[in-house]
Amino acid sequence: MRTSTPVRVLRRVGSGVEVADQSGELVRYDAAVVATHPDQALRLLADPIAAEREVLGAFEYSRNETLLHTDSSLLPIAPRAQASWNYRIGGCHASASAGRPEQQPPATASWSATT
Ligand SMILES: Cc1cc2nc3c(=O)[nH]c(=O)nc-3n(C[C@H](O)[C@H](O)[C@H](O)COP(=O)(O)OP(=O)(O)OC[C@H]3O[C@@H](n4cnc5c(N)ncnc54)[C@H](O)[C@@H]3O)c2cc1C
Repeated sequence: MRTSTPVRVLRRVGSGVEVADQSGELVRYDAAVVATHPDQALRLLADPIAAEREVLGAFEYSRNETLLHTDSSLLPIAPRAQASWNYRIGGCHASASAGRPEQQPPATASWSATT
């Protein structure tokens, strides 16, 4: 296992995969499991197939203002829904995507039990 070794690119080679790290070192493996966020995964693939482009490219992202607070009254009422990271959206069809002014981005709040 290699820690602190960012992967730069993954390339299919024969029946395996070639992994290049930031230093340029190439290592060949039988298979690779990519566990990054989907947009990062797509950028890592040297030769993504159509299905990988479609699935990994389907996610939209936005920048959200986040408040760190200690006000437990802002948490969901249901105890099991109370996480450290909560957000509110306007409805089931609200979108976080930029460029759609009619739809509000999620409001996010990060709760801390201590100050
Ligand atoms: C502020 C905050 C609070 C949260 N609180 C909770 C909580 O209370 N309970 C809960 O269940 N969830 C919580 N979550 C969500 C939880 O953190 C995520 O759902 C979970 O970490 C996702 O795990 P993952 O392995 O899919 O992705 P990640 O944990 O994001 O792991 C992806 C990894 O890929 C690595 N990576 C990216 N690019 C490369 C590259 N090129 N080469 C090598 N490595 C790379 C990254 O360094 C990272 O370590 C919280 C998230 C945030 C941001």
